[in-house]
Amino acid sequence: MLDERMIGERSEFIATKGKQKQSLKCDADSIAGCVSQRACVYCGARVVLNPITDAIHLVHGPVGCASYTWDIRGSLSSESEMYRNSFSTDLKEQDVIFGGEKKLAASLDELVEKYKPELVFVYATCIVGVIGDDLTAVCKAAEKRHGIKVIPVQSSGFAGNKSAGYRAACDALLQLIAAAEGKGAALKEKNCINYLGEFNLAGEAWIIANYLREMGVSINVAFTGDATYRRLKTARQATLNIMQCAGSMHYLAGKMQEKYGIPYLQVSFLGLEDTAASLRSIAKALQDETAAQKAEALIQREEGKAKAAIDYYRQKLLGKKAAVYVGGGFKAISLIKQFREIGIEVVMIGTQTGRQEEYDAINRLVADGTVILDDANPAELERFMVEQGAHLLVGGVKERPLAYKLGVAFIDHNHDRKHPLSGFAGAVNFAAEVYATVCSPVWSYVKEQGGGCSE
Ligand code: SF4
Repeated sequence: MLDERMIGERSEFIATKGKQKQSLKCDADSIAGCVSQRACVYCGARVVLNPITDAIHLVHGPVGCASYTWDIRGSLSSESEMYRNSFSTDLKEQDVIFGGEKKLAASLDELVEKYKPELVFVYATCIVGVIGDDLTAVCKAAEKRHGIKVIPVQSSGFAGNKSAGYRAACDALLQLIAAAEGKGAALKEKNCINYLGEFNLAGEAWIIANYLREMGVSINVAFTGDATYRRLKTARQATLNIMQCAGSMHYLAGKMQEKYGIPYLQVSFLGLEDTAASLRSIAKALQDETAAQKAEALIQREEGKAKAAIDYYRQKLLGKKAAVYVGGGFKAISLIKQFREIGIEVVMIGTQTGRQEEYDAINRLVADGTVILDDANPAELERFMVEQGAHLLVGGVKERPLAYKLGVAFIDHNHDRKHPLSGFAGAVNFAAEVYATVCSPVWSYVKEQGGGCSE
């Protein structure tokens, strides 16, 4: 894959199926000078924790880091709306020189007095790592002063890659679960499960909760979509953890198995095939024959309805080509299958934080000639989308302008989401959105290969 247009060190992170050895380098820090599309450690931690609805999320750093706010991801709440605020200690030059601990303590006092929260997360940013503010000590003192939970999140932006932020968030959640006391904190309830790696974007967790309810299975708490402090403290009551986003939650699932004996199961509710397989595997893991029968009835009913709706879009989209660049590997795997359901082949696929086994699975799934890349930069995405003749890019907020500048249709699978893409209902939404963007008449005014449908 290496040629004169590519930075030499990047060659191991890019492969073409069928042309090179299977293994791809991944889970490494980004290469300096490549302007990686990947976010920083702090951002990874905030992605995971921000959907906790009744917590105060206080960013200790310059005001720019706090520009990551609720509206970038749009997770929904059934109770508190506290998480939609963005708080920052707004560190300035004086604080960088003399330290920001006093400012952090004062900010905590002010926020507690004004909002009376039970839980506060304090996120470390790059500059806090540089000046060495003792976040743990300040949080502990505030916890004592106010009698609430104040959890430091060690997420200095430069201290690794986005995966390190996921881990920092999981460590914060583990602290919270471990601290939970009182009767019932560890009592196991039948068919009561936690849903890990689900952030309730556009209400997706509620769709899956309804499916599971029909099977006689209840979601104890989702990590972290629509989660509250009260619910999170009961996490040990579950008999099973199901995990959607493995990139962010694999570490937490492993730790909960080790510490509290809760087994975990990888699931995906993207696309018809994976949704049906996940419902079946949950019933199987719970060893509940009634749940399995109810799952079959649900799948038959919902899959039938969804297939009928999707078929219309499939006829229009047959033969189009897609490029995919998303955060985690498991989502990428599901998207390959989901695109096939609507008649589209994925010709370029990459992730920000995919793991080796996920890239192996991607490699097995895609057709020869597909370009696979880890931690890409805009130049690489542009080049391979053009070379592969993609009509559509699936990505997040950072990829959208690139697609439009190339005259290629775009689907945001991570941010700014207005409708859910999970479950059978989500699969229909996805097909409709792909159709609306790929077959938009606008592309005929832009350039010939930029999409558009024959009619
Ligand atoms: S890289 Fe550092 S300065 Fe930039 S957003 Fe992340 S924490 Fe803030």
